[in-house]
Amino acid sequence: MQPAVVPLECHQTFRFTCAPHVTCFNACCRNLNQALTPYDVLCLKQVLKMSSGDFLDRYTVESTGPGSGLPVVSLRFSDADDLACPFVTDAGCRVYAARPASCRTYPLARGVSRDRETGRLSEHWALIREPHCLGFKNGHRHTVNEWIDDQKIAAHNRMNDRMLELIGLKNQRRPGPLMPSETKRIYTALYDLDAFRNDPFYRNRNLSTSADNRTIDRSGTGDLDLLLVAMDWVRKYLLSFLPEQA
Ligand code: SF4
Ligand code: SF4
Repeated sequence: MQPAVVPLECHQTFRFTCAPHVTCFNACCRNLNQALTPYDVLCLKQVLKMSSGDFLDRYTVESTGPGSGLPVVSLRFSDADDLACPFVTDAGCRVYAARPASCRTYPLARGVSRDRETGRLSEHWALIREPHCLGFKNGHRHTVNEWIDDQKIAAHNRMNDRMLELIGLKNQRRPGPLMPSETKRIYTALYDLDAFRNDPFYRNRNLSTSADNRTIDRSGTGDLDLLLVAMDWVRKYLLSFLPEQA
């Protein structure tokens, strides 16, 4: 049965509780196509105390976005019959504090649209009522705004909107597939931050300012600042592509 999608305004309420006492607890953490954003990868590798390269090798698979042609990183689910998320345990999600944006947003979904004149982004929310999810039965009441605060979604959304900008730019400058070398450069900058930090290539092209280079080289630069520089590098890289001819 298809889920019911119910648009909600930020002040509107819904009832939902997901907790160990709900009989379907953990049931939805399997058999998913769970794409990760660059900020998801950053949060997960930090909480797991892994390098980005080790995290990507162990827990993810790479593919190509069918629409964008950009690299897509998804969680590698178990090969066993249960197709489980690598982070699900009997007690729940073992990376709960760093769970991906889509996991923390559920049972809501967020859509974003851009005003053609002002360029401003506006967001839209909807409740996804899936028949197998028992969290709606006798759940606590929340407004959409309360859910965003409780689940600490705002920081993810701010970073993920930057990614949407890059996808929009890619589609504008070079619709369709990329060359493998281009894909690799973008993949490393967006997802493999430790490799980005250590690879002189990202400081040698005209796409990195001396201020960016200082940020990359400073030993105290945190992952978030590094990701902002890396995303800006990708933005300039995409801008270096010739624009589509009309
Ligand atoms: S990351 Fe956590 S919440 Fe998300 S699917 Fe995996 S176990 Fe479930
Ligand atoms: S199906 Fe719903 S209630 Fe059950 S574990 Fe998943 S989110 Fe929680």
